[in-house]
Amino acid sequence: MPIPSYGLTNDELIDVLAQSNQAIAIHVTDQFIIQYASDAMIKVWGKDRGVIGMPLEKALPELEGQPFIGMFSRVWHEGITISGTDTPAILEIDGELKTFYFDFEYRPVKNYAGETFCILHIANDITDRYLSQQREQVLQEEMLAANEELSAANEELNSSNEELVQSQMELRELNNILIESEARFRNLVIQAPVGMCIVRAKDFWVEDVNDIYLELVGRNRDELDNKNIWEAIPEAADAYAPVMQKVIDTGIRYVANETEIVLVRRGMPETVFIDFVYEPILFKGLVDSVMVIVIEVTDKVNARRLIEEMAERSRLAIEAGEIGTYDVDLRTNGITTSPRFDAIFGFDKPVTWDEFAAAIHPDDREARFIARQKAIKTGKLFNELRALHKDGSVHWVKVNGQVYFDTYKQPVRMIGTVIDITEQKRLQQQKDDFLSIASHELKTPITSLKGSIQLLERMKNNPSPQHLERLIDQAVRSMNKVSTLVEDLLNVGRANESQLRINRTRINIAELLQNCCNHIRADDNYMIVVQAPPVLMVDADEHAIDQVITNLVSNAVKYAPNSREIILSAYPDGEYVQISVEDFGPGIPKDKQPHLFERYYQVNASTYHRSGLGLGLYICSEIIKKHNGQIGVQSELGKGSIFYFTLPLA
Ligand code: ADP
Repeated sequence: MPIPSYGLTNDELIDVLAQSNQAIAIHVTDQFIIQYASDAMIKVWGKDRGVIGMPLEKALPELEGQPFIGMFSRVWHEGITISGTDTPAILEIDGELKTFYFDFEYRPVKNYAGETFCILHIANDITDRYLSQQREQVLQEEMLAANEELSAANEELNSSNEELVQSQMELRELNNILIESEARFRNLVIQAPVGMCIVRAKDFWVEDVNDIYLELVGRNRDELDNKNIWEAIPEAADAYAPVMQKVIDTGIRYVANETEIVLVRRGMPETVFIDFVYEPILFKGLVDSVMVIVIEVTDKVNARRLIEEMAERSRLAIEAGEIGTYDVDLRTNGITTSPRFDAIFGFDKPVTWDEFAAAIHPDDREARFIARQKAIKTGKLFNELRALHKDGSVHWVKVNGQVYFDTYKQPVRMIGTVIDITEQKRLQQQKDDFLSIASHELKTPITSLKGSIQLLERMKNNPSPQHLERLIDQAVRSMNKVSTLVEDLLNVGRANESQLRINRTRINIAELLQNCCNHIRADDNYMIVVQAPPVLMVDADEHAIDQVITNLVSNAVKYAPNSREIILSAYPDGEYVQISVEDFGPGIPKDKQPHLFERYYQVNASTYHRSGLGLGLYICSEIIKKHNGQIGVQSELGKGSIFYFTLPLA
């Protein structure tokens, strides 16, 4: 192709191209001889223009081991274009191997026959861009990582945010529960069936109080609400402020039972009993307030005291009444007894039910069985029986009992009392004897009186003076006997009612002794000896003392008929005069002597044919008692008896 005249020569063209910023080289032959290289390419290679005309391998020996020569070979031989971007190549620059990065293209330039005649080599040093890209990438990666971390942190933040929200909700919920429970607590305090009061620890302010508490301390709400409790209830402060302080200091609750306290209620001091608790309420380990819980137990305490008092009273009554008690389990016959019960049955320690039963007089066992059967029907036991003591003595026992039944109406328990009624029985017996004796005694003179009067009546029209005198005499004696008996009975009645009146005068006892008992003195069978100083003055009822002496002398005659001599003596003894009547009869057994002056007592009731009513000595003792004197007896069986009494000297 001809070159136009304004055109550049091939060399000029190459020079121009050589100044292009584009790194271009043209390689020929299969040795890739550098026919042309732009300045930029020379610079890329780090060489000088000396490389022009040199095979590539020689010009850039550092390419050995790198893929570029192989690529050139393929381009040359296979006629393909090979290109690459960001491809690293190690080049020797100023004697130093360095890595550079290129975008490149090896393009075969072909003739008309399609044969490659040169390779157009274009390269772009993108090392800076590449490295900055790399840095950017690293930065980006770092950023990414940081981002990831950030997002993770964000997530965490999110989740902790959620947690926060959640816990805020929970907190709100808890708060609600707290408010609710506080409200419930307040309600509890207000509605509690016991007195309650919440006292703030730091200043004893009453934070909450219920009506029952207010009523209990006798205050109205204004007096307590938000007030210092000890200023509001000063009467309790001395005793209980220190107690509450201790609860606050130690955190240990204080419990008190049945405490006596004086409270001013409606202006009036009242003694009441309370059970109370000081319960510390803790906040952050410290006592924040004290809950006071209090119940008034005055009624309970009073009731218990009453019961205790009653129990004590009945115990005293049982003791004073010498009452024995028992408690029987009717299913097992196990028995619990008091010592008095044991003693009444003649035991000195508790024994079994069978042993008690064995101590019952055989004649009373059937009656006891019947009484028991009746008790199981009626619930009440009443029985009188005799207990035989080991020493052979017989004791009358009165048994009372109350039977308790279970829900099936089966008798399960019996509780009751026993008393020794031997003495009562003896008195009863005496009374019975007395009645039969009294009626007999009265019957005899009345019969005789009746007989005398009947005879007198019969002979009234034809009286015989001899019979008349005897009959009248007999009637008078019978009459006297009746009137003596009636007098005795009246005296007993009077003595009983303490109406025995004495009419004191100054009398000479010696004289009284000399003049008494003329009817006995008249009897030749007896000799009355008086031993006394001539004058012994006393202030006494003459008739009554005469009655006493006559009674004692009559007894001597009655009960010591063989004692011819009866000695009456009187002598001063200190401030008293002692008067005695001595006989030498059969005497009186020692065990009978203490009873002689009791009403109706007779040593041997069966011998009543020669006795009176068992009243003589009783009346004597009543008369002497009225004179502030004493009466007694000394007697020995077979030797005789001395009845004596004392009277204060005038
Ligand atoms: P009464 O009126 O029946 O004689 P008393 O009270 O006078 O009763 O006497 C009570 C009992 O004391 C009599 O039953 C008798 O057994 C006894 N007694 C009284 N005096 C004597 C005596 N001198 N010697 C023996 N026994 C006596």
